[in-house]
Amino acid sequence: MAKKKRAASSSSKMVYYFGKTRTDGDTSMKQLLGGKGANLADMTSIGLPVPAGFTITTECCDQYSKAKGKMPKGLMEDVAKVVKTLEKETGKQFGDSKDPLLVSVRSGAAVSMPGMMNTILNLGLNDESVVGLSNKTGNERFAYDAYRRLINMYGDVVMEVGHEYFEEAFDKIKKKYGVALDTDVPTQGLVELVDAYKRVYKKHTKQDFPQDPMHQLELAIEAVFKSWDSDKAISYRRIEGITGLKGTAVNVQSMVFGNMGDDSGTGVAFTRNPSTGENKFYGEFLVNAQGEDVVAGIRTPQPVKDMPKWKAPNDKTIGKKVHAELMAIKDKLEKHYKDVQDIEFTIEQGKLYMLQTRNGKRTGPAAVRIACEMVKEKLITEKTAVMRIPAGDLTQLLLPSFDPAAKKKQSPLCVGLPASPGAAFGKLAFTANEAVERSHAGEQVLLVRKETSPEDVDGMHSAAGILTSTGGMTSHAAVVARGWGKCCVAGAGAIEINEKGRKITVNGKTYTHKDVLSIDGSTGEVFAGQMATVEPKLGGDFATVMKWADKHRRLGIRTNADSPADSKRAREFGAEGIGLCRTEHMFFEGDRILAMREMILADNLEAREKALTKLLPYQRKDFEGIFKAMNGLPVTVRLLDPPLHEFLPHDKKGQADVARSLAIKPAEVERRVAQLHEANPMLGHRGCRLSITYPEILTMQVTAITEAVINCKKKKIDAQAEVMIPLVGTVQELAILRQLAQETIDNVVAAKKYGGKLDILIGTMIEIPRAALTADEVATEADFFSFGTNDLTQMTFGYSRDDVNTFLPDYIGQEVLEKDPFQSLDTSGVGQLVAMAVEKGRRTNAKIKLGICGEHGGDPASINFCHKVGLDYVSCSPFRVPIARLAAAQAALAD
Ligand code: ADP
Ligand code: MG
Ligand code: MG
Repeated sequence: MAKKKRAASSSSKMVYYFGKTRTDGDTSMKQLLGGKGANLADMTSIGLPVPAGFTITTECCDQYSKAKGKMPKGLMEDVAKVVKTLEKETGKQFGDSKDPLLVSVRSGAAVSMPGMMNTILNLGLNDESVVGLSNKTGNERFAYDAYRRLINMYGDVVMEVGHEYFEEAFDKIKKKYGVALDTDVPTQGLVELVDAYKRVYKKHTKQDFPQDPMHQLELAIEAVFKSWDSDKAISYRRIEGITGLKGTAVNVQSMVFGNMGDDSGTGVAFTRNPSTGENKFYGEFLVNAQGEDVVAGIRTPQPVKDMPKWKAPNDKTIGKKVHAELMAIKDKLEKHYKDVQDIEFTIEQGKLYMLQTRNGKRTGPAAVRIACEMVKEKLITEKTAVMRIPAGDLTQLLLPSFDPAAKKKQSPLCVGLPASPGAAFGKLAFTANEAVERSHAGEQVLLVRKETSPEDVDGMHSAAGILTSTGGMTSHAAVVARGWGKCCVAGAGAIEINEKGRKITVNGKTYTHKDVLSIDGSTGEVFAGQMATVEPKLGGDFATVMKWADKHRRLGIRTNADSPADSKRAREFGAEGIGLCRTEHMFFEGDRILAMREMILADNLEAREKALTKLLPYQRKDFEGIFKAMNGLPVTVRLLDPPLHEFLPHDKKGQADVARSLAIKPAEVERRVAQLHEANPMLGHRGCRLSITYPEILTMQVTAITEAVINCKKKKIDAQAEVMIPLVGTVQELAILRQLAQETIDNVVAAKKYGGKLDILIGTMIEIPRAALTADEVATEADFFSFGTNDLTQMTFGYSRDDVNTFLPDYIGQEVLEKDPFQSLDTSGVGQLVAMAVEKGRRTNAKIKLGICGEHGGDPASINFCHKVGLDYVSCSPFRVPIARLAAAQAALAD
């Protein structure tokens, strides 16, 4: 019995049908059927008009990959069976010469990857059935149009014949008939085009275009499997951090035709504006067109809001009817999925069909607005709203925009479509490669292209913004840019691009790769030169979401800041203290660096103390400024951490300056510099090791902190200092330094005759694996732990943080690692040390405060981990504070 059950289990089923006959899948099966397949099944189930078809599982793709390109056993037999069901339902036969069943073959993984894998339409046509289709529909033009598209798409996708060879042939025909648009080519032209395409096909593949529909289908399915491992698909997954998927599903669906004449068409739409979030149906459609025509920028599509005006010769109210139907479907979809939907539809001779729906990608600002409005509409709860906004996307709301005053003074060169909001400027780059290279070299560039394609994603990613001269709001550039929150202006038709000459012309003016342009993705404006920007205002829906987040989160949120300005900004963003105030930057300003160098290069205590005395007032003043900005909130000050060599003068002039103030010879300075050289400074004389050998450094810093606290308190500023001792590996280090710090505090209090309470905490950074392993001992000397996960990651993996780019990209490309452990905490390895230290630390010191101050403190996945292991707070850079607030709430709600 048990055996039988397993054989019938769903994981062995390779093909899932959707249609009136039966529907095997549903929306919960995204992993197995891909997003597209699962939702096609789901839409069928809720009664929407979906052409029938079937989905081949992602597991088949996985098997195909693992078997190095062998089709899974039994798959084509199962396909043949399900094709029979499809034939019954549609009343047409696959390969029939009079009334052929035609299908599309579409890829679709669990996570949507727009434009990554190409769809083949009209599959099943051949030299005979094209005549049948023509007779059956009484529309010869349409039949040959469908056939030429099949040869083109099949040639391109399955046989890798370059699309440009087909384009060339098409251009010749258009020229011959003296027309510019594909829709104006007469029937005879299309008949000739089919012949020309077959010749192109034969020339490049050395074979005739296959006439057996089952053969076409098998190779098309295989091509979809193959596309999963194509370079562009791999590159897209890497950039998006998509891992852990089995592969793509294959959807085979009976065709409906948007290219049957003036009463047919095709379109794409979002149920709400994906750029701003406004609750307005938002889409484009094209009459007498098929498939990708809308997004390919072949003809300019019309906005869906103008659809009611559409009239066909045989039906004057077609636009009104279809539009009303589309609006009803829109409501049904939003109620069903409780989210914004991104849909594809086709109208065949006045009848509307749905071809796809998925949750719509949206910008950060749109995500916030949509979430808030859907709560008001009672479509979702407040908790769902908090859970749904991708925390990382909040950065887009915190981005600057162009200064309205500056914009008033300058009129735009031209205006394109506001495809993805934000403000960007940069020098012009004309190819994706150029954009990658120049931005790696440190330049800020705008990628300027006629249109973009999936090959360009690397370049689009590295550019500051994207500007295209053709394409609509749903073009490749627009969709991808919105997904990333990158600024994009699309379809700026006034721009003429000369890619080879590396220049553009706009209204008679010319700009080259050396010129800077500014683009406003919220208005579509393009300006010459670099436009001034202003900071965003943070009220409205953003404030509402933050309020909701604060209600649900348990973690405290602090910031990493070492200046009063940064502290102030972080506080405005909602920071509840400073988790890491680095002190080393404070030694570089003005003449401080000279005093610092004197200190390091002094060869006796007295000279060192003299130099430190010069530094003390600077430090005290810095601390006073920060304590004032953070009035009433805790500030964790980390004592000097980096290896001393970072402060040393390596140039002649710097050495001469130090020699003069120490009254020694430059050669002597040079000698001491050489003496301090370390082979491996990051593992060398740094952190608490400095204070063990030069206790006077600690004494100076703690004196400055304590005096600053006292000065603040006298001015009624509630300074709450915490002294953090870095790089501790043994409890002895901390014991010695803690005692020294405490004595220093007591000495300052005595010297100042201060009678009030100071309550300065003394704790340590946990960043050396040994400290985590012995956290129970270390905790006996610490009021707090702050996990320094940058160094902890470096030392746990043994990867040099500064050199990791020599191999890490390959590691991620080959999936040796799932993600960069310096960006997102490696929860299974480094995280284990954190969890252990939390547990051991609390065991010997129940009152210990626990936080994290590494870069990971601003990464949503890492924050989720911090919540789970029970830290008290996370600390991150000021701009990530709102992200951390939201991520902390999401972690708490998911719990
Ligand atoms: P993508 O994932 O790139 O959007 P799709 O598989 O959704 O690719 O299809 C590409 C285009 O072909 C879309 O415009 C889609 O609506 C259209 N299309 C797909 N299948 C059919 C079909 N059976 N009938 C008509 N149009 C189709
Ligand atoms: Mg699609
Ligand atoms: Mg460190």
